[in-house]
Amino acid sequence: MPTYEYQCESCHQTYDAFQRITEAPLTVCKFCSGPVRRLLSPAPFILKGNGWYVTDYPSESRKKALEAEKPPTSTPSPSSSESTPSSSSSGSSS
Ligand SMILES: [Zn+2]
Repeated sequence: MPTYEYQCESCHQTYDAFQRITEAPLTVCKFCSGPVRRLLSPAPFILKGNGWYVTDYPSESRKKALEAEKPPTSTPSPSSSESTPSSSSSGSSS
């Protein structure tokens, strides 16, 4: 279960709250019932145990990213790359 960090704007207490992902964020301080805001945790929730998501999520998007980055299969003809008009004869033309 991810841990969310909250800070009370009233009593300035910071505390962690264990919540389900689907659960709505807390809005009231558990100490003084003042308004709280959720702090951005330094790291996304880390689940101890088997790494779910982590292996699954990026692969799908990465696949698309790779495919987007790949040029449409077109093999450049090797001859055309060197078919510059050979006027590079370094000589004094006078
Ligand atoms: Zn409070």
